[in-house]
Amino acid sequence: MSNSTIQTLVWGEYRHEKKNPKVTALYPDGMHEAIAAALRKEPGLSISTAWLDQPEHGLTEKVLAATDVLIWWGHMSHDDVSDEVVARVKTRVLEGMGLIVLHSGHYAKIFKSLMGTTCSLKWRESSDKERLWNVAPHHPITAGIGDYFEIPAEEMYGEPFGIPTPDELIFISWFTGGEVFRSGATWQRGNGRIFYFRPGHETYPTYHHPQVQRVIANAVHWAQPTVCIPDVCPNSPALEPLPVDSEAAQRSTEGHR
Ligand code: ZN
Repeated sequence: MSNSTIQTLVWGEYRHEKKNPKVTALYPDGMHEAIAAALRKEPGLSISTAWLDQPEHGLTEKVLAATDVLIWWGHMSHDDVSDEVVARVKTRVLEGMGLIVLHSGHYAKIFKSLMGTTCSLKWRESSDKERLWNVAPHHPITAGIGDYFEIPAEEMYGEPFGIPTPDELIFISWFTGGEVFRSGATWQRGNGRIFYFRPGHETYPTYHHPQVQRVIANAVHWAQPTVCIPDVCPNSPALEPLPVDSEAAQRSTEGHR
């Protein structure tokens, strides 16, 4: 946790970019780097990056302990993320770290684990336009966004989206093909704040879109930790004198071993 600068880590799977020339052309240094480059222009943030094929996926205990907000983009290799690292990230979220899950991260192990539901949806790669309606104009995540914004070409995601009812619904998307989707939503899990944000299919220049960048930057500020409390489950002495109970006293001396 930081009092001034928000330590922000952008995590990317970083495999499409190495295999699909179309993705390489859009994101020569990786999608995570495009997201990071936009965030580096934002005052108050300190930005670093990590990706799947680094040791421990770049998500060591030390790195996570120093991270206030983690941004997650994954798609083709969710199963390659080790369960040990997923558990480590989950613990940090429950302690207070913010988590922003992007697009196909709806099926990431960490998101499914924190949601506890299928996180399934409908999808289509075609010629859809996406219009994102701001349904929470009071919310810090939509600051500067206006009533709606449009992405000229995107993959379609459609309802039903297998998520628990969000604490706050931030955006609803409409697609040319007629579908709608809860494309921005927040949840509290333990002490951590979670934001899911839909746009970002790898074959479109979505992370170069200024309003997409604005939403992600706003979300980093919103998701920064308010507390960081390691999980413990302590035996707790009474605050006031208790009535004498000889049986209880006997159990107490035997201990809870
Ligand atoms: Zn996609």
